Amino acid sequence: MPTELIYLRDAYLTEFDAVVVDVRDGAVALDRTAFYATGGGQPNDTGALAGLAVTDVRKDGEHVWHSVEGGPLPAIGDTVHGQVDWGRRHDLMRTHTALHVLCGVIWNEWRVPVTGGNMEPLSARMDFEFDPLPEGFGPRVEQLVNTELAADRPIEVSFLPRSTAVMDEDLIRTKVSLIPESVPEIRVVDIVGLDKQADGGTHVRTTGEVGRIRVVKLENKGKGNKRVRLEIIDA
Ligand SMILES: [Zn+2]
Repeated sequence: MPTELIYLRDAYLTEFDAVVVDVRDGAVALDRTAFYATGGGQPNDTGALAGLAVTDVRKDGEHVWHSVEGGPLPAIGDTVHGQVDWGRRHDLMRTHTALHVLCGVIWNEWRVPVTGGNMEPLSARMDFEFDPLPEGFGPRVEQLVNTELAADRPIEVSFLPRSTAVMDEDLIRTKVSLIPESVPEIRVVDIVGLDKQADGGTHVRTTGEVGRIRVVKLENKGKGNKRVRLEIIDA
């Protein structure tokens, strides 16, 4: 059985019990977990598992592996308690939602798609197909994003059958068709009225919870590739 990813349905759950299904050098696989595994531009959570510090979380095959410091490691079949470091996780949720707001704003204003991105707690970069960047882009995009954050839009997470998702115009724009055909159900993160994407990350409940953003730097990464670096600050 693949590890159940609790955070896909509840990003606010930080404590859980789970059964150890496999153990290897310094790492533990569980039947369920609230720890986010690195992926989709969002880094892993940290925290504690069975009293040991969790330093890394990765998917490998069907299981989520939690690298822990010290020992002894729990044994296969043991029930263990996990606790996610909420400060780091919540900062990553704020950051991830801010990036989706940025994507929505840039699409609505300039009809330019995103090409990639990465985040750390409260700082991130995202690349867009601008060529060149519009005049006055930095202050303008910062203002547009902060207006959407202050509007406190709700964020809804849902699960759609693949056949429904591939017909949705907003999801087509964000390349839902690239998700492997073997995935029967698509998780959709909808910042209502602004941005809708197939996404496996953790998000806050409303855009107001993000705070504000500041555009730190704009970089030219070549033709049709302009990088926006931003930080998230309290409102
Ligand atoms: Zn995302």
